[in-house]
Amino acid sequence: MLENKVVVITGAGGIICSEMAKFLSNKGCKIALLDLNFEMAKKVSDEINGSGGNSLAVKCNVLDIESIRKAKEEVDKYFGGCDILINGAGGNSPKATTENEYHELNLPDETKDFFALEKEGIEFVFNLNILGTILPTQIFAKDMIGRKGANIINISSMNAYTPLTKIPAYSGAKSAVSNFTQWTAVYFSHVGLRCNAIAPGFLRTMQNEKLLFDDNGNPTKRTEKILNSTPMGRFVKPEELNGALEFLVDSDKSSAVTGICIPVDCGFSAYSGV
Ligand code: NAD
Repeated sequence: MLENKVVVITGAGGIICSEMAKFLSNKGCKIALLDLNFEMAKKVSDEINGSGGNSLAVKCNVLDIESIRKAKEEVDKYFGGCDILINGAGGNSPKATTENEYHELNLPDETKDFFALEKEGIEFVFNLNILGTILPTQIFAKDMIGRKGANIINISSMNAYTPLTKIPAYSGAKSAVSNFTQWTAVYFSHVGLRCNAIAPGFLRTMQNEKLLFDDNGNPTKRTEKILNSTPMGRFVKPEELNGALEFLVDSDKSSAVTGICIPVDCGFSAYSGV
């Protein structure tokens, strides 16, 4: 039963997590929308509340312990605790993205290759995706123990299975998210707290817009490669994650499921390309 469960979602102002927030609100959950960008979270919250839901937007930086603690205090005060935590904040950075897929001899000097990636960019991406999953889990999980049906959802990615070209930090960080999902599942298995993940396939969102479409909005070579490597030949729509989400968060449906990561990817992770 999801009715009246309190769901805390980080990155809730974004494309994927705002969709999850609206979906779970429609299932009767109370939603705390945490985001670094308060305006975006507020916009989603207004939409949910305007259509009869019960939600609260909270400014929160998942990389700042004090900020997460404050957000938890607000959630506790408003909703009386958290039943389900969705660690959705994440993303890549152009500063951690190479221009070329393969290293070659005699590349032009100005090529932004692996050697040119900036430490700050790599650090940013690792921190946002893995530290930004671990810290909110530390702050919220303790009080979730003992609440009926409590569980955590992390958001992994296709590159956790096999790294994608150009984005070594994002690939490594999401691989760590899948790994941490299993670690968390085992760690909390004696105290009734489940932890699972969803690995979305390719969606068209803000974070990958520049990789997928050129300045004129035309598909890049990368988009052609993605679609050719996707058996169903199309992008995943945000709402297509909802079925997997509902299964994992609803303990009436998945009480014995912990430590798994469900790919929702139009077949991408199953296909060898041949
Ligand atoms: P998005 O950029 O639309 O949303 C990300 C949200 O996180 C934004 O609202 C942003 O303000 C927030 N955020 C950024 N830094 C934060 C911080 N330090 N603290 C709190 N909030 C912060 O991205 P999205 O595509 O909806 O992605 C959501 C999740 O799904 C991410 O973890 C992403 O890595 C993952 N993912 C996305 C895709 C895709 O194709 N879009 C595929 C696989 C996985």
